[in-house]
Amino acid sequence: MADYRSFVGLSVYLEEMVATRYLNQLQVPESYPDGKINDSTNWTAEDRRTALYWIYINTRDNTVINQSYECSFCQKEHGRQMDLCDLIPLLVESEHSMTEKLDIPNIKPGYIQPLRGNAVEYLEQLRNTRDELEEDSPEWCVAHADLRIYECAWALKFKDDDKSLSAEDQAENRFEYLLTLDAEKAFKKVAATVRKALSAMRHGLMSEYLDGEYKLVTPPHQCPNIEEGDEPVETVLLLPFRYNNFLPSL
Ligand SMILES: [Zn+2]
Repeated sequence: MADYRSFVGLSVYLEEMVATRYLNQLQVPESYPDGKINDSTNWTAEDRRTALYWIYINTRDNTVINQSYECSFCQKEHGRQMDLCDLIPLLVESEHSMTEKLDIPNIKPGYIQPLRGNAVEYLEQLRNTRDELEEDSPEWCVAHADLRIYECAWALKFKDDDKSLSAEDQAENRFEYLLTLDAEKAFKKVAATVRKALSAMRHGLMSEYLDGEYKLVTPPHQCPNIEEGDEPVETVLLLPFRYNNFLPSL
């Protein structure tokens, strides 16, 4: 029971870690040719969310949720019910390659890749550390900046990465390298290039990454208070993707 309690208590803050464990436990080693499961720490963050979503909508009787928002057109509060199955038509199949060459003058050559399970687990811990600090305090600002730099460090691979090291150690080395760059000129360029590439590589559930959290894009909602003859007013609502809502309850 003590183990159970600690697991439940931790899961709110270690969603990525719990998701890895869950997605790995679902796989039967014997069904793989080499007897090894396909470790979900190597899956892209998008594939992890999409897998959890599929399992969820296929195992629940009720997939309808309530959303409410303040309409920017009529300033009134609207509510709607949305069936999570309505997100299926919004699934994106990326035509883009999952690697993109990094080619910026005076920056080490390499490539950009989507964030994978090991990256989002690492970033989750950094975010937890940041959130223990008082918001906007000097310490918080440093932790917040580090999180942003680490997002880049994990999305990058340099040609001269020491592949004998663990993925974490390699990311930490890339972080140290990024710290040596000129913030205004070089780092901003790298960060913008990474952001653009990651956006082109988006796949699975349509989502936006805002304030360190994934938000699912839901079908537009029509304001009910428009007059006849007015242009339709549609609002796209974002639904925070909390793993805990998609994992089976313990
Ligand atoms: Zn409205």
